[in-house]
Amino acid sequence: MSEFDFDLFVIGAGSGGVRVARMAAAQGVRVAVAEDMFLGGTCVNVGCVPKKLFVYGAHYGEEFHESKGFGWNLEAKPVFDWPTLRNNKTNEIKRLNGVYKNLLDNSGATLLNGRAVVTGAHEVEVSGRRYTAERILVATGGWPFVPEFPGSSHVINSNDVFELDTFPGDVIVVGGGYIAVEFAGIFNGLGAKTTQLYRGELFLRGFDQDVREFVAEEITKKGVELKFNTDIESVEKLPNGRLQAKLNTGEVLEADQILYATGRKAKTTGLGLEEVGVELRDNGSIVVNDFYQTSVPSIFALGDVKGGIQLTPVALAEGMTFLAQQYQGSQKKLDYDLIATAVFCQPNIGTVGLSEEQAREQLGDIKVFRSSFRAMKHTLSGSDEKTLMKMIVETATDKVVGIHMVGADAGEIIQGMAIALKAGATKAVFDETIGIHPTSAEEFVTMRTPV
Ligand code: FAD
Ligand code: NDP
Repeated sequence: MSEFDFDLFVIGAGSGGVRVARMAAAQGVRVAVAEDMFLGGTCVNVGCVPKKLFVYGAHYGEEFHESKGFGWNLEAKPVFDWPTLRNNKTNEIKRLNGVYKNLLDNSGATLLNGRAVVTGAHEVEVSGRRYTAERILVATGGWPFVPEFPGSSHVINSNDVFELDTFPGDVIVVGGGYIAVEFAGIFNGLGAKTTQLYRGELFLRGFDQDVREFVAEEITKKGVELKFNTDIESVEKLPNGRLQAKLNTGEVLEADQILYATGRKAKTTGLGLEEVGVELRDNGSIVVNDFYQTSVPSIFALGDVKGGIQLTPVALAEGMTFLAQQYQGSQKKLDYDLIATAVFCQPNIGTVGLSEEQAREQLGDIKVFRSSFRAMKHTLSGSDEKTLMKMIVETATDKVVGIHMVGADAGEIIQGMAIALKAGATKAVFDETIGIHPTSAEEFVTMRTPV
């Protein structure tokens, strides 16, 4: 009989935690998992899933309009009802919470409802009761970060946005990353007058420069007002309930809501980690090695809480790697190369591999293939939306090292491209591939002349 209550104690039933807990339990590992808020974590409750449902909702706005060119006559002007979208979304999330509970229960893991605190190298406390475990896995994710400034208590973050009582007539979105760009598109698509502020020269830092510029143009065409090199200095709540923002440019803006999407912070405050000797970075994220092991050998961490790439499929892959390493004797490390990602703005961004700038810096001699065009749908839709496709090829090896797309369903298309890049496809392989006609994606196998 083991000297511990459990073999593995998982803190946090989010993307990474649930995956590890249920897969380990199914293998006969004695697992406990503690969750203090919502089963399924950020992705299911206040992230990927409800966000994508809102994105679908936002697209209808333009699709109703575009359908006229195809002969549809919408006699009455379509009207958007926020409570319907919000409540239908909430019901779907409740259903998913139940699915996660069943997955955990059926796997044999013990689910503990409550906030967990690490009280020793092999000990965790939940709701006043202490449990011992051979290994502890911290998978507590992150939390929205909002900088402090006069009136910052009046702004909302990405958690609040999913449950608003009323839909704003106008909104200011602050930030230039994934969440800000996606929510500017959601608000704009659902009919709010939307202004997006970003402190730097151009948003989406780290993405291919062409993509960033192209997206800025497309988003502006859709109606989002972009203000770069701009930040809010203070916010005041007016007697009529509206918010007045004073900007560093001297300009004053008013809106019903101000959403701050200025990054996320690892959720480690009060978790007891430093007290037991786990090394944290200044920003609170947990330092781990290639085996997700912290500075305390029996304590591990994965997912958003350890910093690095914050994506659900990455947390899942880390979970599977952790299981193989700890319970199947694997020495294999997770390969973080060529992770595809999408930003669900209108139109979507899909990207995998190196940007043109990164490729030039890392590889020197490269070829760039680029195509921008009006997708066939928009010949009749009346929309002036454009699509961008870009391919970066290493000259010496002919290997495709980066693919970028801005356009309808870019996320869906780039997923397949990521497999080709993982397989080491050369440009010649792309050229030999016969396209599917008529699609936008066929452009990736017909681009012949470098720019
Ligand atoms: P989480 O999913 O955050 O889970 C952590 C869990 O731990 C939570 O349930 C939390 O309540 C619990 N917890 C924390 N502390 C304790 C404690 N002390 N005791 C008990 N339980 C605790 N990623 C994508 O890949 N695609 C997307 O489209 C996408 N969209 C996003 C949109 C938004 C608005 C946000 C905020 C994120 C989005 N992400 C997306 C990122 C994705 O949600 C995260 O990368 C992913 O959820 C990380 O998983 P995790 O397991 O590390 O943590
Ligand atoms: P990001 O880190 O992507 O972006 C944060 C943005 O806020 C940056 O533009 C940053 O500017 C800006 N910022 C940071 N601090 C301040 C400040 N004090 N004042 C003004 N601006 C500031 O974080 P997000 O919150 O957008 O998203 C968190 C993570 O969640 C993402 O990185 C992503 O991994 C994940 N996610 C994934 C999605 C997807 O897969 N589709 C969707 C949503 C989230 P600067 O660039 O100058 O530093």
